[in-house]
Amino acid sequence: MTSTISPAQLDHTAERLRKVFNTGRTRPLAWRREQLKGLRSMLIEREEDFLAALATDLGKPRLEAWVTEIGFTINEINLTLKNLKRWTKPKRVSTPMFIKPGSGRVIREPLGTVLVIAPWNYPLQLALAPLIGALAAGNTVALKPSEISSATSNTITRLVPQYVDAEAVSIVEGGVSETQNLLQQKWDYIFYTGNGAVGRQVMAAAAQHLTPVTLELGGKSPAIIDKSANLEVAGRRLAWGKFLNSGQTCIAPDYALVDKSVKDELVKYIQASITDFYGSDPSTSPDYARIINDRHFGRLTALIDSGSVLIGGQHDGSTRFIAPTVLDGISGNSAVMQEEIFGPILPLITVNSSDEAIAFINERDKPLALYVFAQDDKVIDRVLDQTSSGGVCVNGVILQVAAPNLPFGGVGESGMGNYHGRASFDIFTHAKPVLRRGTRPDPALAYPPYTKKKEKMIRRFS
Ligand code: NAD
Repeated sequence: MTSTISPAQLDHTAERLRKVFNTGRTRPLAWRREQLKGLRSMLIEREEDFLAALATDLGKPRLEAWVTEIGFTINEINLTLKNLKRWTKPKRVSTPMFIKPGSGRVIREPLGTVLVIAPWNYPLQLALAPLIGALAAGNTVALKPSEISSATSNTITRLVPQYVDAEAVSIVEGGVSETQNLLQQKWDYIFYTGNGAVGRQVMAAAAQHLTPVTLELGGKSPAIIDKSANLEVAGRRLAWGKFLNSGQTCIAPDYALVDKSVKDELVKYIQASITDFYGSDPSTSPDYARIINDRHFGRLTALIDSGSVLIGGQHDGSTRFIAPTVLDGISGNSAVMQEEIFGPILPLITVNSSDEAIAFINERDKPLALYVFAQDDKVIDRVLDQTSSGGVCVNGVILQVAAPNLPFGGVGESGMGNYHGRASFDIFTHAKPVLRRGTRPDPALAYPPYTKKKEKMIRRFS
């Protein structure tokens, strides 16, 4: 880990950024646009630096890294630049008779000084996407990338200050102690992405200063495969979404609840897709990522023993490779069902109906994503109506996160608050209501002394 910030500087990060915010220089639209354009130039000009860092950290294939980390983030910047002027415009609202003369407006003001804490699995996108929202809203920002994806963290720390107002954006490298230090400081907003255990610590620290938070957490996101599903498409899309980034995706389908009448056919299509995507030996494929570190590698390989291996199961500690794996003979009590998998292992749980799948989901924590593969609209409607999750994709996986006009976030154990596009701008601003009163006329009606006549009039106009 390389830290360019001394402990003494770290202690005063929020204070320093607040001073910059209080100068007012981050408020004008022009400043905000300049920061976003700076980030976009960085992603374009320094693409190779980021691709190399992502390959070092996670063995991310080039195209996958470009689409999910760089292209995604450029799209977010472009959408924000296109709409920012409209989003920042005060919104007029009507005022009732008894307040006239007067007019009401809602002004979107920046919150001030915000802290963004990012995880390691999409270490660039998940650091920059909240940063985009925070800067678009006119805040000063401290960004703490994940120390676990250290190459990307180093690259962000080295490059971001060259492309944005470096006094208004502080990149703080470090791990638990640096993050805990930041969490002791007073922020106007904290945006955290990561696991729920740390999420609880973030919220407890935020409570000391009554700081509002967004918590983007994880959990076990189920996929229901109904007997009416197009199984070939379901198999292909499940395999893509599960094995993308070697399963280290917060909205990867964690496990599948499969109607027993279609299980064998589904497995056949998953197997065919794995071979199509990665060849007969995925360890030699340039398009398949690696596990982030030895700790996660050990945790995941132990989970393979939870059931019988239908596909895959091979692994190699020296390269942290785990083959795309499908497990059978799994129940709700199996070890692999007790925690978020976050790796390339897909357990299949057989159900007799989609109603049984719905009941299984409702006995557990609310997931970040829920997937349903079905052609029968009644099944889809029942799933939408009877379950709760951060988001849903019907007959697909993952792509709900890439639709910029769909807010993204969790509910219950999978988190709180939404972001992306307009939703990012909204969370990093305060909707300030302003009533401007005229001074003439100023009738005596509403002021004491109160008379019967005044009461009659007021009751009439209220
Ligand atoms: P991580 O270990 O990188 O931790 C996330 C951040 O928290 C890092 O910056 C880290 O330095 C900091 N941190 C870790 N321990 C801390 C502590 N004790 N005190 C203060 N700060 C601490 O990432 P992770 O938590 O392993 O990330 C994986 C989890 O994140 C999964 O559960 C995944 O589903 C979830 N996730 C959610 C989203 C989403 O958008 N909802 C996206 C990606 C990942």
